[in-house]
Amino acid sequence: MTIPRRKFDTLIIGAGGGGLRAALQLAQAEAHVAVVSKVFPTRSHTVAAQGGVNAALANVLPDNWHWHMFDTVKGSDYLGDQDAIEYMCRAAPRVVYELEHMGVPFSRLDNGKIYQRAFGGQSRNFGGEQAARTCAAADRTGHAILHSLYQQNIRARTHFFDEYFAIDLLRDAEGNVLGALVLEIATGEPLVIESKTTLLATGGAGQLFRTNTNALINTGDGMAMALRAGIPLQDMEFFQFHPTGIAGKGMLITEGARGEGGYLLNGEGERFMERYAPKAKDLASRDVVSRAIYTEVQEGRGCGPQKDHVLLKLDHLGVDVVSKRLPGIRETVKTFLYMDPAETPIPVYPTAHYTMGGIPTNRYGQVVVPEHNGPEEPVLGLYAAGECACVSVHGANRLGGNSLLDILVFGRAAANHIIEHLKETRYHRALNDDSVEQAMARLTRWDRREGSETIDGLKRELQTCMEKYCGVFRNETILQQGVDKVIELEQRLQNAYIKDHSKVFNTARIEALELENLMDIALATVKSALERRESRGAHSRVDHPDRDDAQWMRHSLFYKEGRRMDYKPVRLKPVTVDTFPPKPRVY
Ligand SMILES: Cc1cc2nc3c(=O)[nH]c(=O)nc-3n(C[C@H](O)[C@H](O)[C@H](O)COP(=O)(O)OP(=O)(O)OC[C@H]3O[C@@H](n4cnc5c(N)ncnc54)[C@H](O)[C@@H]3O)c2cc1C
Repeated sequence: MTIPRRKFDTLIIGAGGGGLRAALQLAQAEAHVAVVSKVFPTRSHTVAAQGGVNAALANVLPDNWHWHMFDTVKGSDYLGDQDAIEYMCRAAPRVVYELEHMGVPFSRLDNGKIYQRAFGGQSRNFGGEQAARTCAAADRTGHAILHSLYQQNIRARTHFFDEYFAIDLLRDAEGNVLGALVLEIATGEPLVIESKTTLLATGGAGQLFRTNTNALINTGDGMAMALRAGIPLQDMEFFQFHPTGIAGKGMLITEGARGEGGYLLNGEGERFMERYAPKAKDLASRDVVSRAIYTEVQEGRGCGPQKDHVLLKLDHLGVDVVSKRLPGIRETVKTFLYMDPAETPIPVYPTAHYTMGGIPTNRYGQVVVPEHNGPEEPVLGLYAAGECACVSVHGANRLGGNSLLDILVFGRAAANHIIEHLKETRYHRALNDDSVEQAMARLTRWDRREGSETIDGLKRELQTCMEKYCGVFRNETILQQGVDKVIELEQRLQNAYIKDHSKVFNTARIEALELENLMDIALATVKSALERRESRGAHSRVDHPDRDDAQWMRHSLFYKEGRRMDYKPVRLKPVTVDTFPPKPRVY
């Protein structure tokens, strides 16, 4: 079978904020750039971001990027790489002003400046009073950003392949990445896209867990493609559980609700966060608040007939504040719970939210792999940015508002590096057919018509397994059971088949490919969690309750081949300022 081919300077897989920010930079530099997305670009998960994007603009309270950097390092539980964090926090005001000039309709203060709200883990003066650093467009910031970026890309003539599914990276024998095999979803036709550089911007893997805030499309495809290409995934044990999902359903209630003055209550009507974080209270870091809610419920102080959640109280803020600053969540709560949060507290419980780990990169977005016992080497031609990447600016726990910032800063940085690389790379390397055949085999194996397992059934089991064995609190026994269970599910997947090939637009085949990806990511996550025998950030081991800097101040790397773990040091040295040395982390 001859597969049609297209050639571009750069292929970007993913049209969320990370992919679109990079594409814009490249298209404006007149690179020939293709963006592939499995959904229409403005349906990418970035569109759902609510609370806002962090930048030390000091529009509401005094602020500077150095304080932002301190908060991010502390929030990461000292696992973040300080050179990348420094770069991101310094660049933040600039990328926000760029967005403003692109037409993002930020909320405004009375003096006309961009509105900024308080978010968790933010402080003034290195751990002092609460700061207000999150730039917001009401509670629909991601929507505003993604639509503006898309429109600017149309203007810059970026070439879009909408509703194309990327199957695998194409590599030559020397390890260069030369593009990807993609599938046009509507027709089922494969297409080879050859490129001099490839950027993965495929977002997170929230679908690993049954209750999550993510879109159905967040299945970690790019991370799994990297794993299959022999690239390890970094720090996968760190998965963020957002404290305030709608109880039992998982939809997100932004941290901005607490930023605007909302607070949490347990079944005894107590404002319990005062016990867990005396200073920051409800605006402590997310891992801290999630553990507190979980503990309250475990110890019998939950709310409702089952005592299985806590309440988020907003009714004291008044209808005006709720409808002006939080219109989206008011609508969500009315739609899903038939209640008005301006009048009645919202039942909430922690829900899976954000993949801190991902494809290892440096701060130029280049994918880097450590040589054995040697320095890191970039994988030629391959870049990653956004939630699928691990730079790592979030370390063991991401601060709210720092992910929109991450995708913008590193989407832009990766594009700038690609522009330089393209200047030296005039010609396409020759693609070897083996690599295309291998990628095609992933597709054709789903043509089989028999088996004993279904995709839906296995997906549900996987999500339930991850929730049970790799949740907020973990220990050796349950993690080992989790590893065994995921391996069992992975084997059973070999025996799965697509029940109904007549399903429209290849959706059944896409779901099978996505589940394969999720299986790989699940194993990386639970295996990395089993091996890290300490508690740090979002990774809480009840059998190893303390942070252990002597042993574990290092990044985990999981390789698919042999399910092998490796480790590499944290980059503690920023470029222009002093290191923030590890300290006990209290809020
Ligand atoms: C409900 C919610 C609210 C949030 N609120 C905030 C907030 O207020 N502030 C903040 O900083 N962060 C927030 N976050 C986190 C932040 O929004 C995300 O981390 C970020 O938007 C991810 O952007 P991205 O560009 O990396 O990926 P995404 O926006 O997830 O885009 C991924 C893209 O990859 C494409 N793709 C994936 N796989 C394939 C494939 N196989 N083939 C082709 N295309 C593929 C998809 O089609 C999509 O275009 C929130 C997250 C959620 C879920």
